[in-house]
Amino acid sequence: MKLRLLLIITPLLSVAACSRTEEPAGPQLVVYSSRIEQLIKPIFDTFSEETGVEIRYVTDSAGPLLARLQAEGENSPADILLTVDVGNLWQAAQMDLLQPIESEVLKANVPTSLHDPEERWFGLSIRARTIVYSTERVDPAELSSYEQLADPVWSGRLCLRTSKKVYNQSLVATMMVANGEEKASQIVKSWVDNLAVPPFSSDNKVIEAIAAGQCDVGLVNTYYLARMQKDNPELPVELFWANQSGEAPLNRGVHVNISGAGVTLASKQPDLAKQLLEWLSGPEAQQAFAQLNQEFPVNPDTQPSELLKHWGPFKGDDVPVVEAGRLQAEAIRLMDRAGYR
Ligand code: FE
Repeated sequence: MKLRLLLIITPLLSVAACSRTEEPAGPQLVVYSSRIEQLIKPIFDTFSEETGVEIRYVTDSAGPLLARLQAEGENSPADILLTVDVGNLWQAAQMDLLQPIESEVLKANVPTSLHDPEERWFGLSIRARTIVYSTERVDPAELSSYEQLADPVWSGRLCLRTSKKVYNQSLVATMMVANGEEKASQIVKSWVDNLAVPPFSSDNKVIEAIAAGQCDVGLVNTYYLARMQKDNPELPVELFWANQSGEAPLNRGVHVNISGAGVTLASKQPDLAKQLLEWLSGPEAQQAFAQLNQEFPVNPDTQPSELLKHWGPFKGDDVPVVEAGRLQAEAIRLMDRAGYR
């Protein structure tokens, strides 16, 4: 256990040690980020230019970052945790790794349903998880909702990513809120019955399988499709905005999730960390932050990128995203019982 702890902490110590000789005099923030360098560096560089605050960051997957914050405790050098999916942010709050931040700016810029009711984390971009289909074998008029993918008409035609991925856990959790546990369970069981092939390890593989003719419909986060469509405008896969019409709860809107951030409990400079979060939620940073990963801004005053506009507007499910965190464990159990691997 001790060795593992040491292994976790050592890489960071070495980063800190290297920079000691060239330690800058100005203020500095440390961000632990599960978003990769290319999605954060350009934004942080702009913030540094505007404010003179240097930002250092460590990138890793959400799980290891949370473990590291926990192992480091109050000695952690991290000021901010930046990660994707409310499931991870909720987990961090549950582990008592984040501190509440009182900010009128954040409250104004981030819709209520997209931040922690206790103000420990805030959404910074919106990702929508929706239906994608083969433009060669599916008429979009046949599609309507996540629930309708349980219909036998999709037997042997559905592709899904593994239930181990937090994206699917959050989606199923919100289906439990909308439909109740029993109905949600039946739907997920029918999804499994409709699978063309066993679940894939990534959203990209779901899209590739549809393009290759292995299946006809699937569920993915829109930015994966945006990237592939950008690389290959001829891709025979298109997006359908799920749950836009019909009777409640089918008309609740597409499942939206967030990337977001919070100030660590260990931070010794929460006001400076808050300044970065507020700046990230502002119109200028919002545009860039969302666009780098082809996501949607959380700030209602900011427009999505041109590339995303061609999909047209959509109604998002306005169930508070925190529900996806609260129901995460139950969603995992439900998927397990349904045989969704
Ligand atoms: Fe992703």
